[in-house]
Amino acid sequence: MFDTAIIGLGAAGYTAAIYSARYKLTTLLVGEEEGGMGNTAAEVGNWPGDIDVTGPELMERMKKHATSFAEVTLKQTRVTKVERLGGKESKEGKESGFRLTFSDGKTDEAKTIIFATGSNKRHLNVPGEKELAGKGVSYCATCDAFFFKGKTVAVVGGGDSAVEGAAIVAQVAKQVYLIHRRNEYRAEPYWVQKLQEKTNVTFVFERQVKAITGDHGSTGLTTGKVTGITLDKSFEGSDQLAVDGVFIEIGATPAVELAESIGCALDERGHLKVDASLQTTITGAFAAGDVSGGSNHFAQFVTAAGEGAVAVSGVFGFLQK
Ligand code: NAP
Repeated sequence: MFDTAIIGLGAAGYTAAIYSARYKLTTLLVGEEEGGMGNTAAEVGNWPGDIDVTGPELMERMKKHATSFAEVTLKQTRVTKVERLGGKESKEGKESGFRLTFSDGKTDEAKTIIFATGSNKRHLNVPGEKELAGKGVSYCATCDAFFFKGKTVAVVGGGDSAVEGAAIVAQVAKQVYLIHRRNEYRAEPYWVQKLQEKTNVTFVFERQVKAITGDHGSTGLTTGKVTGITLDKSFEGSDQLAVDGVFIEIGATPAVELAESIGCALDERGHLKVDASLQTTITGAFAAGDVSGGSNHFAQFVTAAGEGAVAVSGVFGFLQK
């Protein structure tokens, strides 16, 4: 049985593994997607000590650091189920333990668990979106910008992902429409200013995308293409915009399913509810990074890493009791 199992291979998970190893805890680090959401940052810019680093570079370095310890066992696979061992809480509140089942049906057990499961990209849920996903509809502007060299694209959203994403796409695309449902961005002013300096970006405020149009192609194949979007209100004389691609960057919802399945409660914004040690409402189960509400819901590399460290300090204290 491991001292702790960390689910998630993003900034929170890797940092938790580094701290856990240095506390000499036997650690299972498991996740499906190496790097997590951190891989989608083209330019990080706010990781202290690194003026110029990309998300994938930073995540690779974190992985190398986390897996450099003998105490850490890395498993790249999907966790399909988490169960509590011992059932109900003991009177002392000490009884704890968890069984993890993986996609190949194998299992492992740990005395404590840290959910560092991150978040899943939100969808617009409009006609054409599902059918044209991967055929011009993308959920990661920084990953897929390259495919739209010389093309006209729409980016939807008003947060850091959308504004940073639009700035990255504008480096290669002929024309970018940034479509936001309000007239104020919630993105860092740094990115807004960067975008305003581009000459090929059109700012479309107070508009929503009602549908994505195009040739759907054959099911299961990547044939088909986006040809345009329909807006809820007309813009420059028409509610139709001709585009070759649509980047949907409207935020993400915390990946709470596994934690919820063992009874962890959610906070008012749908993140895992945690105390100051980042313990969830289930004894021995901790949370770190975008899935938790631990840093005032501020999802950043530094807050995820910080929470990874705090969660392990909580785990260490818990195991010592
Ligand atoms: P976000 O901050 O939650 O912003 C989501 C944006 O999408 C908001 O502008 C929101 O509009 C809009 N939106 C949400 N649902 C919508 C819908 N159904 N239709 C149309 N628009 C919709 O998400 P994010 O930009 O992905 O950022 C998530 C977190 O990651 C943030 O904490 C952010 O700071 C962080 N992040 C950081 C970096 C970086 O530091 N380099 C890069 C990317 C993300 P309203 O404004 O009207 O609510």
